[in-house]
This record gives sequence, C-alpha cells and structure tokens, in this order.
Amino acid sequence: MGKKILLEHAEVPGIQGYEVYREKGGYRSVEKALKTMSAEQVVEEVKTSGVRGRGGAGFPAGMKWSFLAKPEGVPRYLVCNADESEPGTFKDRYLMSKIPHLLIEGMITASYALGANTSYIYIRGEYYYLIGILEKAIEEAYANGWLGKNILGTDFSHDLYVHPGAGAYICGEETALLESLEGKRGNPRMKPPFPAVKGLYDCPTVVNNVETIAAVVPIINDGGEAYANIGIGRSTGTKLISASGHIKKPGVYEVEMGLPVEEFIYSDEYCGGILNDKKLKAVVAGGSSVPILPADLILTTANGEPRLMSYESLSDGGFQTGTMLGSGGFIVMDETTNIAKNLYNFTRFYHHESCGQCSPCREGTAWMEKILHKVLAGKGSMEDIDLLWDIQTKIDGNTICPLGEAASWPVASAIRHFRQDFEELVKNPAGLDETRYYYHCNNINPEVA
Ligand code: SF4
Repeated sequence: MGKKILLEHAEVPGIQGYEVYREKGGYRSVEKALKTMSAEQVVEEVKTSGVRGRGGAGFPAGMKWSFLAKPEGVPRYLVCNADESEPGTFKDRYLMSKIPHLLIEGMITASYALGANTSYIYIRGEYYYLIGILEKAIEEAYANGWLGKNILGTDFSHDLYVHPGAGAYICGEETALLESLEGKRGNPRMKPPFPAVKGLYDCPTVVNNVETIAAVVPIINDGGEAYANIGIGRSTGTKLISASGHIKKPGVYEVEMGLPVEEFIYSDEYCGGILNDKKLKAVVAGGSSVPILPADLILTTANGEPRLMSYESLSDGGFQTGTMLGSGGFIVMDETTNIAKNLYNFTRFYHHESCGQCSPCREGTAWMEKILHKVLAGKGSMEDIDLLWDIQTKIDGNTICPLGEAASWPVASAIRHFRQDFEELVKNPAGLDETRYYYHCNNINPEVA
C-alpha cells in the first residue's frame, strides 16, 4: 500500500466530526505550533518540507509564505482556494467532505505562521453540501477552543469564515477570487502587485489551495524534513489524484510522488486498468488545462524513462513530448475516443468561463469552439485544423491570467499528437450526429425545438 498522510483516516467512521478527529490526533499541529514554535519556525518547517502548491501552479508554498509583506499595523489574511472546478479535478471536494477538520486545522496553523487573525475558505456556491459540512466543523472548532480569542491561552486569536462564490471557474484564479471575496465581479487583476503585497482589501494575503493547507498538518506534526523525505527530488510528499474516464476504478487516490504512471493506471491499488480491457489511447494528467499525451508518452518519456507522478517527470520533454502534474485531474481515454470530440467539450467550457477582459481569450476561445463545432458537425476542412492551431498560438502568452493558456494548451497538444482524429472527422463525417451537436452547442432541447 502507498503512503497516506492526508487520507490516512478518511474512511474511519465518524472522522467528519470533531470527537473522532481529535481521537485520531487531530489539532496536534495547532498545539505544537502555538505552544512550542515561533511563527517564523513554522514557516521554516514548511520551506524545509518543499511542499509545492497543489492547486496547479506547483509554486513552493514556504517560499510564497515568506514573500508576505508585513507592514506595521496592517492586517494580513490567509485565503483558502476551495473553488475547485477544473474539469476532471475533484480531490479537494473529497478531502473536505471526508475530513473537514484537517482543512480547519491547517488553516489555523498556517494563519499562526503568517500572523493572520482572519482567514477565509472561498468555495463555489454550488457546493452547498460542503458549505454545511465546513460550517459545522468550524462551529465545533470554536466550541473546543481552537478558534476565537487567545487560542490555548496564547496571544494568538483567529476567526475563520466560509465564503460561497457564485460559481465561476475564473474565481479559482487567485486575484479573481480576491475580487469576488471583496464583493465585486470576479475579474483577474493585473500582476504585480501580487497578493502577498496587495491582496484582500489591499492587505498582504496568501492564497493557498485546500490540499496545500491540509499538508501543513503532517508537516508540522512530523517535521518538514520527514515530509521532504517522502516523494522524489523536488516533488516532495504525496499528491491527491482524482482519476476518471475509461478506467476500472475511478476515484480519489493519494499517491507518493514518484509513483510510475503505468503502476497508477494498471495496478489494482489505483485505477485497476482500462475499462473492458481496451487499449489506452491518451491521458490528460493534471486537469483539463494541461497538454494531453498519447499512451506511449504518458507511460514513458521521449528518452524511454518510465514516466512518474511528479512535477519534473510529467513535464519532461516540455510541451512537445511532456505535460504537467497540474491539479491532479487524471482523465484516461481508451482506443475508442476521438480526441477532437473530447477537445470540443474542453474548449466549450473555456469559452463559457472566459471573463472577457482580454481579446485573445474572449475572441479566441469563441472561435476555437466555433471551428471545432464545425469540424464535429461534418462541415470542416483541413484548413480549419490549421486555423485552430493558428488561433491557439495567438492566445498563448497574450492574456492577463492563465485561463487563456489553459484554453490553448489542450488544443495545441490535441492537434500535435492526434491530428489524425481531426482529419478523420473532416474526411469522413458520416456517422456524426450533427443535430445533437447543434442543439447541444446552442442549449436547445431538440424535443421542444
Ligand atoms: Fe479573463 Fe481570459 Fe483574460 Fe483571464 S485570460 S483575464 S479569463 S479574458
């Protein structure tokens, strides 16, 4: 069995509630940090651990914390990004629903390290079932003295709030999230200034993903060194992977960084192999934003090395032959999948979620969706595939926030590795249900049209 440090107790009956969580050692990291460590020492442990942001960017969390400005008399904030909505990614929801106190504990310990007396969990409004779970856990934490004034008799006081958003993928981008948290439309801000200097209400703010904040608990309990000894190279610790698609055992798995991708897909401990024992065709390894890879390149690098579940191994080869660990949304596709059809779903999503501030993203995502729709409806030409390629090059690197790239990278990789799937639809449109795509695209119910 692989090492579990976040989900170790996830299946323990009653772990969602305070009593069982505490019996299993819950809130030890708060006790240890507040009673025996300075805030700076907590930051140092997180730096030593090497843990990298688990939301997708993979930036070292301890370094991000150390950038936090500390002007005299100005409040600081910690904001947890629980707005998980990347297609294919559902690990944060799993963690929050199973062990909500792990996140609450991580929020308190991290806030102590940052000198933040107020923190927020920003979560999609649609996850109302989770909002209830988190609010109950927060209530229990207040009732047992882990939140509020002078926690454990120390000088540290802390209040924690759950803030529901209105349901927009772009609010997962940290500056759009902060705008939304301030009550405004969730449009990404120009950077710099970065949130560490000018974040929530113009005050220094750290925004971290759910899994990153939860990881603070084992890091403080066992020490940064122990955490750094798990994993491989600069990919330390474990990673939650949400696995879906054509596999026998979809679900959320905690894997030690460095696990071979082949083992993850085929072993019974994880995905259990391809559904109906078909052949593997492609994998989106880190959520819909990352480049899609064909079977041979997801199992081994271009140099013939086994591909591993780590930041470095998955990105080996750059975007020509590699991809990214991203948010850990692992989507598996078998030999029956037409990648152009799959791409249409992703592209439609990014067009819908573009905030519209920058022209390359606003117009480019719209045109990519239209062209893909045309190709899928059997009206496409070979020039359309080239046009699709050309449009994505105009988006990449020319936008305010990463949503533009998130929309262009899947298109680039799909054409790079699976051009034959697009050509097949151009040459042989027979069999496509054009009506279905037309109605689907225009949100019309064919039954009543
Ligand atoms: Fe908005 Fe897209 Fe520009 Fe991001 S890249 S700011 S989502 S228009």
